[in-house]
Order: sequence, then C-alpha cells, then structure tokens
Amino acid sequence: MPQVSTAANIMDRAARAIVSADLTKSQKLAIREYFEWCCAYCGKKVRRGDFDHLDGRLENGPRNRVLSCQKCNQQEKRERPWREFLAEKCESDTVLTSRTKRIEDWVARWPVREALSSPEIEQTLQSIEQIRQAYKVACRKLREAVKAEKAKRSCE
Ligand SMILES: [Zn+2]
Repeated sequence: MPQVSTAANIMDRAARAIVSADLTKSQKLAIREYFEWCCAYCGKKVRRGDFDHLDGRLENGPRNRVLSCQKCNQQEKRERPWREFLAEKCESDTVLTSRTKRIEDWVARWPVREALSSPEIEQTLQSIEQIRQAYKVACRKLREAVKAEKAKRSCE
C-alpha cells in the first residue's frame, strides 16, 4: 500500500510532467551512466538514484537533471542553488572543481529549453499544490478517525 506522502509526491510529479515531459527510461540510464552511478553532489554510490533538478522544478528534461542520492536530493539540497549546495558537499577545492565541471559538461550536452511559464500556469500549479496539502490533511484526519473508532470498539 503506498504511503500518503508517496501518493502526494506522485500527484506533484504528474502535474509537473504536464508542463515539461519527465525523463524517459533511456535518459535516466544515460544520466546514471554519465555520473557513473554516483551522486553528482556528494559522490556516494547509488543503487538507482534520484534525478535532482539543478535549477527550479519546472524543467524536467535531462539538461536540468543530475544523478543524486536520496539524502542530498530529498533532505539536504531542497530548492537551493546547486553551486552553493555542491560547495558544501565537497571536502576540497580539487573535488569541487571536478564535480562542478562534470555537471557543467553534462548540462552543455543538451539544448537550452526554457521551462514554460505564464501567470496561468503558475496559478494552476499553486491550486494543485493546495489540493495536495488538503489531501494530506484529510488523510491525517482519516487516520485519527480510524484510530478513535478502533479504540472505541476495543473498549466495548
Ligand atoms: Zn549525495
């Protein structure tokens, strides 16, 4: 059974994929191979890896994506600029220079494709975000209601 947070993440990804097509299987493999199955930020080996967005979250194409471990992608970098985050993750200037170059060379392989944006797109994405939050709140309430009902029944 999927977790509520997983379902909410899928809702987010599905909505953003309408604006910009998500990575294809072959693009994902190309990213994994280019980064040699290592996180582009901390250098740790990954089994499958996440595909972090370098800059913003709207452009989903390979130019804006690098291989990342779960910790860097989901907990640490968040929405911060990638260069600032990378500087924190590198133990020396030599490592920082080589990881920066690797990312820049990757980006340079792909044509520039600006993320589609308009007030209407922004506004609609915001309303989808509100729905997502409302879904999470409703699931929390549901969990509490089920718990209360179970407790009631066990006392009878
Ligand atoms: Zn990492």
